[in-house]
Amino acid sequence: MKLANYRGRAVLVEDGRLVDLEHASSGEFGPQIQTVLTRWAAFKEWAIQRTSDPSAPQGADGPSDETGFGPVVPMPRQVFAVGLNYRAHAAESGLPLPEVPLVFTKFPSSVTGPRGVLELPTDQVDWEVELAVVIGLPAHRVTHGEAWAHVAGITAAQDFSARDVQLAGGAVPQFSLGKSFPGFTPLGPFLVTPDELDDPDDIEVECRLNGETVQKSSTADLIFSVPAVISYLSYIVTLQPGDVILTGTPSGVGLGMNPPRYLMPGDEVTTVVAGVGELHQVCRAARQPFDPTTILG
Ligand code: ZN
Repeated sequence: MKLANYRGRAVLVEDGRLVDLEHASSGEFGPQIQTVLTRWAAFKEWAIQRTSDPSAPQGADGPSDETGFGPVVPMPRQVFAVGLNYRAHAAESGLPLPEVPLVFTKFPSSVTGPRGVLELPTDQVDWEVELAVVIGLPAHRVTHGEAWAHVAGITAAQDFSARDVQLAGGAVPQFSLGKSFPGFTPLGPFLVTPDELDDPDDIEVECRLNGETVQKSSTADLIFSVPAVISYLSYIVTLQPGDVILTGTPSGVGLGMNPPRYLMPGDEVTTVVAGVGELHQVCRAARQPFDPTTILG
């Protein structure tokens, strides 16, 4: 099953056609996708029944406007991200392999839709393609084996990162702030349920910059797999429906290049997660660049 947030309304995506969930369920689910996620178990039951009901309303049309897709979770309560979760990325960062998942948060105000403009608040904004998982059922102290059953679906994400802001602070790097400027967390365009995937632990991810592939890998190369990350987190925090976890980025980020390469106005970033779709961002200089010395006086 594929879901999306189209023009602010939860839709099922069936053979490229959109089915408005509020209409199709006679008001039981929707209109917003967040209300579907908070009732995930009931929704799944309804969706299964629907597939065996020949009189169920079908979608008439595909999206008339690709820019109508919003983030698959517009305002998650919690957004986690995992650092250094691919071996080659840890190596290019010059850092030892982590012994436990290295977790930080991206603040929810950085979430945006799958297509649009990325404003560059500094001249050191970098790209990071990531597979994101969206939680469907509350998860507290779940085992690896139980983890996927708590996931509503996967989606494509970018973990845009202002490296200068992220790495300021010496002993206390400011990961959460450096990765939370407006528009730094595009999510979408589809939420794909795990049963749609041949192997949910082997999903290809790719990032292209102006058409050139800069990152390409598979979640089979994760140091801590999706189930391991969910299980680990769930022993510390209770994961709630709609929470989002970005699972790490492979090698090929600009920081790891010699010399480092960062996003410039006019650059186009394409982010691909196999089976989910693509994100497209076009970079633009910020009208007011981020300048801490002026802000702090
Ligand atoms: Zn990341």
